[in-house]
Amino acid sequence: SSLDEALDTLVRDIADWPDAGVVFRDVTPLLADAEGLRLTVEGLTALGRRIAGGDIDKVVGIEARGFIFGTPVAVALGAGFVPARKAGKLPALTHGVEYDLEYGSATVEIHQDALTPGDRVLVVDDVLATGGTMAAVDELIARTGAVPVANVVVLEISALGGRERLAHERLGALRTY
Ligand code: IMP
Repeated sequence: SSLDEALDTLVRDIADWPDAGVVFRDVTPLLADAEGLRLTVEGLTALGRRIAGGDIDKVVGIEARGFIFGTPVAVALGAGFVPARKAGKLPALTHGVEYDLEYGSATVEIHQDALTPGDRVLVVDDVLATGGTMAAVDELIARTGAVPVANVVVLEISALGGRERLAHERLGALRTY
């Protein structure tokens, strides 16, 4: 399909970034391409809708590229947008979940009043790697009493085991490496 072609040609690999030995998948060429951007947003919207299998009240986007992809998906679904951010960025009362990185740990936060108990939530990010970030955001959503009903990403790097770590059936990816 033209989406497959866009993902083939407009995601580039950057060797040794941010650290030696790491290959970073860079989606900025995809964002910069009008057709690629539209197809990706449409693809995430359709996938999220299919996995959710019902109403979606809110889209939670994960800092930072989840904000870019998640906001137009929210508009397309007629849902509101809620940011999940790195520690210390959100101004009002937050819930926080700490998770392990290869070296050290990180914390993601969400505003306590951004979601209502029972809200059906679609989570959007650009890349699923180890799944640590996505799992932490699922836990944040659960803290509010809302329900993650679908988690979608543009790219899934399957060798890093994110899907196994999440251990649920609601993950979708436009492309799996
Ligand atoms: P994880 O927690 O290991 O699954 O890493 C996922 C998070 O790190 C996401 O928020 C991604 O934006 C970011 N990330 C990890 N690897 C890449 C990559 O190769 N390209 C772009 N973002 C990445």
